[in-house]
Amino acid sequence: MIPPRRFELPDDWERVPGLIDRIQDLVTAGRYRTALDVLLAHLRRDAASVDALALAAVTMSGSRTERVESPEPPMPIQENSALFAPITTVCSVCTGSWFSTHTLHRTEQWSIVNPIGLQCQVCRHTICKNCRPWTANEGLSRPCPEPGCKGTVTAPVLPTGRDDVEPVDPMTIENVVVIRAGPITPTVDEAMTVVTKFVPILRSDTSMVSIRPSAPHIMDRTFSRNLYAVSVLEGLERERVLERGSWSRATPLFIEAGAADDADYLLVVVRWPGVPKKVVHVHVMREGSEHMSADYIHMLLEVMAPRAFTDHATITGTPGGDWPEDPRFMILLLVNRNHPEYLSDDFVVRTQFGQGPDGLRYVLAAVSPA
Ligand SMILES: [Zn+2]
Ligand SMILES: [Zn+2]
Repeated sequence: MIPPRRFELPDDWERVPGLIDRIQDLVTAGRYRTALDVLLAHLRRDAASVDALALAAVTMSGSRTERVESPEPPMPIQENSALFAPITTVCSVCTGSWFSTHTLHRTEQWSIVNPIGLQCQVCRHTICKNCRPWTANEGLSRPCPEPGCKGTVTAPVLPTGRDDVEPVDPMTIENVVVIRAGPITPTVDEAMTVVTKFVPILRSDTSMVSIRPSAPHIMDRTFSRNLYAVSVLEGLERERVLERGSWSRATPLFIEAGAADDADYLLVVVRWPGVPKKVVHVHVMREGSEHMSADYIHMLLEVMAPRAFTDHATITGTPGGDWPEDPRFMILLLVNRNHPEYLSDDFVVRTQFGQGPDGLRYVLAAVSPA
C-alpha cells in the first residue's frame, strides 16, 4: 500500500493480532527504539496500516522528556522516517514538525490549556508554538490567516502529513539510487538518513540502495540531473542490479541541502517492472569456509530480498572460501554448473551482493521463471 498523505482515524478497522500488546509492553518498559522499529517493519509491509500508524502516534505523542530519558529513546532517523510521515503535523509557517497528542482523540470536548500548536478546523493551516504571534493568555482561537478560508485556528491539532515524501508502495521499490553533490560519496549511514526521510523504506534496507558518485555541475539543472541519472541507471542495468528499461520506472527526487543533510542529494526511486516475480530457487554464497544454517539464509532473505516471493523457493547455500573478485560472475558459474537449465531463456537469474549481519560478504542468485 502507498502511505496515506495524512493519517485519518477511521471509525473501524481491522486489528493486527498482538500488535497493541507488544507495543504497549515495549513502551511501558521505556523501549521506544524497539517499539518504533517494530512499527516501522510493519509499515514497510503495509504502509497504510491503521493499527501501526495509530500506535506510532500514541508512542510518539506522550511526554518528550519521558521518551528522551527512557532506557531506549527514539532515534531521529526513526522519527523522521517517511513511513511515519502520515502522522506528523507540519507548521504552515516555519515547516517545523511534531507528533500531535490530539491524533487519536475523537471527542468534541476540548479543554487544552497550552497546546503545542493550533490548527484551522477547516483547511488544517497549522501554527506551531513558536510561530504563534499571540500568547496563550490572549485566548486560543483566531480566524484562519489562509486567504478565502473562513475557518478558525484553534485545537485540536491533527496530522497534516508531509508533502515531501515520495508516494510509493515500499513493496514495489526495486532500488533507490543515491547521488550526493560534491566530490565525497556519502557513507551508508549518511545515505540512509536521507533516503528514509523521503522514501518509505527502512534504514536496514541497504541492499536495495545504490550509492553512486556525483560528477561536477550535474546538480545545477533538472536536465543535467536527469541525464546523469540515466547514465547511472544504465550502469546498474549492466551490473544486473536493475532490470532493463529502469528509467521508465524511475522517479528522480531532488533534495536540497538542509532538508536532511548539508549537501544536495539526487535520489532516484526505481519501481519494479510489474508485479515482483515468483522466485523458484535462491542460492547463497558466503565468504569463508563455514556452512550457513537454513535459519541464517532465511534471515538473510528477509533482510535482503523482502519484496521477492521466496515462499516456495528451493533455498541452497555454499561457503565461498576466499572471496572472489567478481562474486556475481562466480555465483552465475556455480548456478550454471548445478542447474544449466537456469541459464536458458526460460529463466531469469538476478544476483545481489552485500554484507550480512555477521559482517561477512555474501552474494545470492535468485531464479525466477522468465
Ligand atoms: Zn512554526
Ligand atoms: Zn483555514
